[in-house]
Amino acid sequence: MKRTLVPRMEPYATSIFGEMSGLAIETGSINLGQGFPDTDGPEEVSLVARAAIAEGRGNQYPPVHGLPDLRAAIAEHQERFYGLTLDPATDVVVTTGASEAIQSALLALCDTGDEVVVFEPWFDIYAAGIVLAQATRVSVPLRPPAFRPDIDALRAAITDRTRVLLLNSPHNPTGVVFTTEELREIADLAIERDLIVIADEAYEHLWYDGHPHVPIATLSGMAERTVTIGSAGKSFSFTGWKVGWASGPTDLIRAVRAVRQHLSYVSGGPFQHAIAHALRMPDAYFEDFRHGLQEQRDILTTGLRALGFSTVDSQGTYFLTTDLGPLSDYPDALAVARDLPHRAGVVAIPLQVFCDHAGVGERSLRWAYCKRPEVLREALGRLAALG
Ligand SMILES: *Cc1c(COP(=O)(O)O)cnc(C)c1O
Repeated sequence: MKRTLVPRMEPYATSIFGEMSGLAIETGSINLGQGFPDTDGPEEVSLVARAAIAEGRGNQYPPVHGLPDLRAAIAEHQERFYGLTLDPATDVVVTTGASEAIQSALLALCDTGDEVVVFEPWFDIYAAGIVLAQATRVSVPLRPPAFRPDIDALRAAITDRTRVLLLNSPHNPTGVVFTTEELREIADLAIERDLIVIADEAYEHLWYDGHPHVPIATLSGMAERTVTIGSAGKSFSFTGWKVGWASGPTDLIRAVRAVRQHLSYVSGGPFQHAIAHALRMPDAYFEDFRHGLQEQRDILTTGLRALGFSTVDSQGTYFLTTDLGPLSDYPDALAVARDLPHRAGVVAIPLQVFCDHAGVGERSLRWAYCKRPEVLREALGRLAALG
C-alpha cells in the first residue's frame, strides 16, 4: 500500500505561514507574518450573521452557486464601484473564500500542461493551485527595488501553451498597486495572445491615497476574458468566515461553477446573509476602513525606516515590504525570518519563498500592518532593541 503524498504536491506539504506562526507561538513573538486583522469587522455585519443563525436562515445548505441575495449584492457592488454589469443568475459564484475561487478557476480553465503566467513574488496558494491543475507555472519577476511589472519580460514569458494570466493587484506580498497604464499594457498582451485573465482582487478596497485600484475587467476588451475574484474576509475584516466570490462572463463563470460545486459544494449560509448586507454598506464604511489601515501602514513604515530599513512604498494591501536593514549581515531573508523571533520577538515573512528566480526576494521581508497601533508600536520597540 502506497501511503505517500503524490510527488508533485510534496514541495507544498508545509507552508511558510505555518512555520512562522508556529515560531511566533513558541517564542511569544508579535506575529507580523500572517495577514489577518486583530480587530473584527463591523458589528452590524456580525449581527446579521447572528440573527440569521437564530432565525434559521442559512443553517442548512444554501443554493449551490451562492445565496441569490448575495449574488445580487455582488453584482450591485461591481456596478456601484466599477460600472461592471453582471447578471447575478449566471455571472457570479459564491465561494469558500477567494482561495476557493482561485483554485476552482485554475482547475476549471487549465488543462494538463497548460502554462499559467504569474508575477513573482506570488501569493502562496497560486503555486499549489497550478500544480493541482497539472498546469505549469511560468513566473515573471516584479523587479526590486520598486517591484513594478516588467511588460517586456511578461511578453517574453508568453508562449503558445499559455492559457491563463493570473494577476493580483493590490499585490500581496509587495503592497504594489498596478497603475492603469501598467494594466492597459498587460490587457493588450492578454488580448493579442488570447489569454484568460484570473484577477485576484482580494484587496480591492485596500488601496491608499493616490493609488486607486482599477479592476482589469473595466479596461476595454477585458470584461469578456476576465474572472474577477473578491474576498469578504479582506474587504470586511472577517477572514475566518471564508466568503469569497468570482464574477465575469457567463461562459467562464459556468466553468468555475462546474468545478467549484465539487469542492466545498456550498459554504457558510448565515455568513452569506451577512456579507450581502456588508456589500451594500455606504461608501463611508469603505473610506473609513481604508483610512484606518493607511494610518497603521504609516506607523509601521515610519518606524521601520527610523530603524534603518528601506521600505517599498505600500500602495495597498495589509503589507509593507522592506530590505534587511540592520539585519543585512544575515545570508538572506529566510535566515533573518527564522532568527528574528528568537532575537527580537517579532515575526516577518521572507519574500524569497514566493519566487522562482534568484535575486528577487532574498533580500526582502514582508511585514503585516493590519494590527492595532499599540501592537505595531510594541513590535517596533522590540525591534529597536536589536540596536
Ligand atoms: C488572503 C488572500 C486571498 C484569500 O482570501 P480568502 O477570502 O481568505 O480565501 C487571496 N488572494 C490574496 C492575494 C490574498 O492575500
